[in-house]
Amino acid sequence: MKPLLYLLAFSFSFYITKAQGDYNPVELSENLYVIVNPEGGNIAFLVTRKGVLVVDAGSSPINGEKIISAIRTVTIKPLTHLILTHMHGDHIYGISGFPEDIKILSHINLEKNNAELNDKNLTNYKENIFPAYLANLKLQLDSVSDKESEEYATLMESYNTNVDYFENIKNIKFRKPDITFEDYYLLKLADQRIMLEYTGPGHTNDNIVVKFSNHNVIHTGDLVFNGSFPYLIVEHGVDVYNWIRTLDDLYKENIYTVIPGHGEIGRKIALKDQSDYFRKLSHEIEALKNAGYTLGEIKEKIDINDYDLKGNEDQFPVNIEVIYTELVNKGRGWWEF
Ligand SMILES: [Zn+2]
Repeated sequence: MKPLLYLLAFSFSFYITKAQGDYNPVELSENLYVIVNPEGGNIAFLVTRKGVLVVDAGSSPINGEKIISAIRTVTIKPLTHLILTHMHGDHIYGISGFPEDIKILSHINLEKNNAELNDKNLTNYKENIFPAYLANLKLQLDSVSDKESEEYATLMESYNTNVDYFENIKNIKFRKPDITFEDYYLLKLADQRIMLEYTGPGHTNDNIVVKFSNHNVIHTGDLVFNGSFPYLIVEHGVDVYNWIRTLDDLYKENIYTVIPGHGEIGRKIALKDQSDYFRKLSHEIEALKNAGYTLGEIKEKIDINDYDLKGNEDQFPVNIEVIYTELVNKGRGWWEF
């Protein structure tokens, strides 16, 4: 795995093509809304007497601004709290579009992850990778002799989209959280109780869930990829064992609606669907490993079509590798759930 390219692809690849979908807020429960973000992680917002609380900031300054415009179609109350579910750019890089006095809340590890991992990647992306990518696109464009051709028009559109996107990411500016916590944090806002909880490493070592206690709704961040293959990134502290355990524990709770990090809004079963995916895959890997197959052979033998998911298919071999490695490191019988 090449961490840098991998991470950049994760955070930015969807910009190379134009975003689809709209930003219309959907009311899930009284005063609690969701925006299925077409350009980043899903957004939740809760309108209270004392102001608006938002979960996640979107993927870029422009995406953040679009999210705020969408919120403004519902309420003119001040945006007072912004909760960040985890360190990934598609959930936090919209911050600069938010008001400067909004209170930002996150797990204690997020700030460190941002400083040690995100900042370096972003700088390299801005200073080296993206300018080189644009220069290459420009060369391709110039090499087309027929400027009236469809090929030229397609390349030109791609070039312009990328130039716009480059301008957008140049303005990304992370802001330090105002409130951080280790295990949990209870926020009382007017008559609403919002519980922020860290259940240990799963998707990342800073992923939190946000429970809207008055509504039986949970925002899971990327602990749930509803309907698509999940991203597992070793450098960000992925822990599939604990991820499964967390989802199984949450499934026992009084939850009705699940806002996933990505994908459509689900009922409680979305939690179980995600842990069942990991359970099935890990059992398959363990059985093949015990039968003497190597990691490479296991990747060949497991059929992606046995898994009823669509999207991020390129992550499937990575999922297998990460689970295999966890299995090797943690020993036999580890997958007995
Ligand atoms: Zn993520």
